[in-house]
Amino acid sequence: MKEIYTLADLQNWDRVQEKSAAPICLGVSGDPVAHSFSPQMQNAALRACKIKMRYAKFQIAPGELADALQLVRDQNFSGLNLTIPHKAAALQHLDAVDENAGRVGAVNTIKVEKDRLRGFNTDGKGFARAIREEFSVDLRDLRVMVLGAGGAARAIALQCAKENCERLVIANRTADKAEQLAKELRDFFAGPRVFGPGPRLQAIPWEESAFRFQIANIDLVVNATSLGLNRADPSPIPARLLAPHLMIYDTVYSRDRTPLVSAAMEAGARGVNGLSMLLHQGALAFEIWFDREAPLDVMRKALGRID
Ligand code: NDP
Repeated sequence: MKEIYTLADLQNWDRVQEKSAAPICLGVSGDPVAHSFSPQMQNAALRACKIKMRYAKFQIAPGELADALQLVRDQNFSGLNLTIPHKAAALQHLDAVDENAGRVGAVNTIKVEKDRLRGFNTDGKGFARAIREEFSVDLRDLRVMVLGAGGAARAIALQCAKENCERLVIANRTADKAEQLAKELRDFFAGPRVFGPGPRLQAIPWEESAFRFQIANIDLVVNATSLGLNRADPSPIPARLLAPHLMIYDTVYSRDRTPLVSAAMEAGARGVNGLSMLLHQGALAFEIWFDREAPLDVMRKALGRID
């Protein structure tokens, strides 16, 4: 099996596929895609469930997405995961999109049903399961500050809203996007649930003083920006603001501690990276493709976590 397949490979799929091995019927498409941990996790799940299919990486440029999706439809794939930069762009090429993915405006999982492509987004639910697993607490009991307003942040903020979290504060470098997201979620927070000072739903400026003002009334800080993907990136929130009462969830995933997680621990706070979200969004995708429970322990072990 090749490490990474391309659009040209999909166009010559009969020749590219090894006849002696289980067919590649699933994959992750992105640009770049080399860093993805999904194949090791999904292939371990397929083997454990004795499903004779394999999962591969597909390097697909933005201008190639429509053709790639058409080929996936034609080549009898079962499904696909999407990563940066295809999650929002894919919406226009699908035959149906579930309510959650439509609201988020991004698709991370496609199921091929006969020759129809159906889009889902498992990031929000995957995030909720990750928080429960990592911190033994439900979103409904938390005051959450989400940093970012891109695809991942929108999925996470919507999940927090659906689970009726105590407070939701959204901060994004481009303020309009945070304000727009808060506006879209307003109806979820219209109920009578009242806690402590400050509004239950708020978009705040991307400024240290604004973060500082919120911290005492926040339990969980989520980094859903792309800051941290590169080691040299600055922290999305100044380390001096991190306090021992906080839980910090960094959606950036890595086998090591991310710089934000290290900073959280130095401050006496609890901090974890996005590996658990990757696991749970992947398990949910597996369940969509096969209508059966995913072998979570096998998948977790394949990601290098043996908890
Ligand atoms: P998007 O491109 O949709 O959004 C990127 C976000 O990061 C935007 O809010 C953007 O702000 C912000 N941002 C980018 N650069 C900077 C900067 N220099 N300073 C401040 N903010 C910045 O990406 P996604 O939402 O798809 O991904 C975001 C993160 O989530 C990534 O790190 C990704 O790895 C992670 N992720 C993890 C998953 C998991 O399973 N663990 C699943 C999905 C995503 P602006 O609007 O101003 O541009």
